[in-house]
Amino acid sequence: MLIDLRSDTVTRPTPEMMEFMLRAPVGDDVFNEDPSINDLQSFAADMFGKEAGLFCPSGTMTNQIAIKAQTQPGDEIVCEAGAHVYYYEGGGIAFNSGCTTKTLVGNRGVFTADQLMEALRPSDVHFPKTSLVAIENTCNRGGGKIFDFDEIKKIRAVCDENNLKLHLDGARLFNALTASQRKPQEIGPMFDSISICLSKGLGAPVGSLLLGNAELIEKAKRIRKVLGGGMRQAGVIASAGMYALQNHVERLTDDHELAKAIQKLLENSELVSAVLPVETNIVVFELKPNVSVQNLLEYLKTKGILAFQVGPQRIRFVTHLDLPKSTLEILTSALNSYSSESSSAS
Ligand SMILES: *Cc1c(COP(=O)(O)O)cnc(C)c1O
Repeated sequence: MLIDLRSDTVTRPTPEMMEFMLRAPVGDDVFNEDPSINDLQSFAADMFGKEAGLFCPSGTMTNQIAIKAQTQPGDEIVCEAGAHVYYYEGGGIAFNSGCTTKTLVGNRGVFTADQLMEALRPSDVHFPKTSLVAIENTCNRGGGKIFDFDEIKKIRAVCDENNLKLHLDGARLFNALTASQRKPQEIGPMFDSISICLSKGLGAPVGSLLLGNAELIEKAKRIRKVLGGGMRQAGVIASAGMYALQNHVERLTDDHELAKAIQKLLENSELVSAVLPVETNIVVFELKPNVSVQNLLEYLKTKGILAFQVGPQRIRFVTHLDLPKSTLEILTSALNSYSSESSSAS
């Protein structure tokens, strides 16, 4: 059995999800006539106390639409240096919106309201106009770190004082909410726009949602069409997202428990020098200088375990609903046998 720890995007739809998809009523969504998509959009919007939602093919698209809808060319966006919107979206901020970016260097993806305040420019014709702040929760490159709720409140206050919109890249927002025992209604009102991914830990095969007020979502719908994201009978996939929101949120605690158990395993491994504190479903760890990342990953592959290198001596494991129950056991024995084989060889 394959143990794929590369990402929580690798999940395949469960048989129950497939059943649900087969029964989904559909229509042409460009005419707003797909009942499954309409249901999903209003269900998610209600969940977060927002007026409306928009179903899109990917989280990159929901993020990019949110940026485009809330900026003018020449404006500046503030985000963290490792933020997905800046780091992993192919320069989309410049390409789609013609905006510049000011990056803040935070702690594992998390920055503070004070940092934001320092970054703001006085109103002056020489400077770009800052119009949007984006935060990420959980922080992907920060190893699944949760953005502190009270800090978000302070950031919101800075945005209000300075007439800035606030976007949440919540690709893994449900991991953050589950782990910190917060409700979607608590976080929804703090943002002008929210992007959530259905295809990460929630286990849907495709899709993301953009949430906001009715005016924003109306604008977003035009931009989605321009980007080529207007879909037709896409209720077949949106229904998977609905199933995921209704059935796969609470079980995220299982992923978090497994990630914590893996953290413990790694902390006790003689191969590992450090493990970033695990907060959700991502485990990032550093191998000792004498251990080859390449060799270890190849060895794990022979045992049916897949993972990514994310830095010179760094590996990332991501837990998700498609992992077998025996994951911890198999990983433990693979790491032990690698240790004993490599020490007998040297
Ligand atoms: C995965 C991810 C996205 C969206 O990725 P897509 O592959 O385009 O759906 C956005 N933000 C973060 C933080 C992510 O991890």
